[in-house]
Amino acid sequence: MSNAIIGNLLDTVPDPMVMLDKVGTIIACNLPARALLGEWVQGRNYVTALRQPALLSRIEAAYAEGVDCEARFVQTDQAGETIFRVTIRPVTRAMIGYDGVLLHFQDITHLREAEEMRRDFVANVSHELRTPLTAIMGFIETLKGPAREDIAAQDRFLGIMEDEARRMNRMIQDLLSLSRVEGQERMRPQETVNLTDVLSGVIESLRKGAEKTGTVLRIEGADAPLLVTGDSDQLTQVFLNLAENAIKYGGEGRPVLLRASEGEGTGNLKGPIARVDVIDKGEGIDPLHLPRLTERFYRIDTHRSRAMGGTGLGLAIVKHIVNRHRGRLRISSEPGQGSCFSVILPKA
Ligand code: ADP
Repeated sequence: MSNAIIGNLLDTVPDPMVMLDKVGTIIACNLPARALLGEWVQGRNYVTALRQPALLSRIEAAYAEGVDCEARFVQTDQAGETIFRVTIRPVTRAMIGYDGVLLHFQDITHLREAEEMRRDFVANVSHELRTPLTAIMGFIETLKGPAREDIAAQDRFLGIMEDEARRMNRMIQDLLSLSRVEGQERMRPQETVNLTDVLSGVIESLRKGAEKTGTVLRIEGADAPLLVTGDSDQLTQVFLNLAENAIKYGGEGRPVLLRASEGEGTGNLKGPIARVDVIDKGEGIDPLHLPRLTERFYRIDTHRSRAMGGTGLGLAIVKHIVNRHRGRLRISSEPGQGSCFSVILPKA
């Protein structure tokens, strides 16, 4: 088989492919491989062209032993690292009419990222659950020992243990919600939901709690029905989470407004839209934090979030539900003035 034919064959593959002859010269290299390694590599020896010791030693082994090998190739540029799994396959005249070694580069960066995310997630969950668990175990020790006869201390410690157990329970509930929502993200919801009813329900269920902190909960624009195609339980969860946050972080005695409206979408959300703004007059959020707020466990002030019973998962759940509804979540905030969390959904 001529070099030109091998080159044409390699060009049919979307991944970078490189063909070496039996002494290690690059005799063919498809377009993705030239983009990865540079045009100049054609006709050079692989040692000069590839330069990464781990990969070179595997290619050497493939030549020496005539067996398939595998190695990593890492490309670093301004955009970061791209990681390739390189399959190194010796080929023979009997197989394709040519003696040499074929290299196939497969971009596996996303696999590593997914693996890192999974690892971070497990570490975060373990840490979040360990904190209340450690407190509970500490109090059990105290109740069995020094506080065995102290009724007043027992009452106090049991109260704290109850709070910590509730926190673990909330965390598990939120983790389960998140995993359920993630699992459904690709399934479009089918019900017709009146957002006005959803918002009234949310206000009703939060009114008692809000009164305790002196927050005045108001709803605006809810006189007429506002219909979207959605999942009413999930949309209730979205506005519950946002309104709860507005009450928690909005500051005692300050108002919280849920404002419904309709209009025309812009950008890639064209057509009629329904919009709900959840507005508080709290401390606001430094713009620095805005892009990361919907990450799981991201909190501006971990201590404060925990003290308020937060799990750091509320906004991650909101984001996934809004994505499932093909909607948008916009957050705007001015430190010292308050925050506005807007959910924009296509109208039914
Ligand atoms: P949490 O359980 O900590 O409230 P969330 O995912 O709901 O978790 O929110 C993440 C973080 O975003 C919170 O810890 C808080 O720092 C910040 N945040 C959310 N809503 C508001 C708000 N209305 N005003 C100020 N900060 C907010």
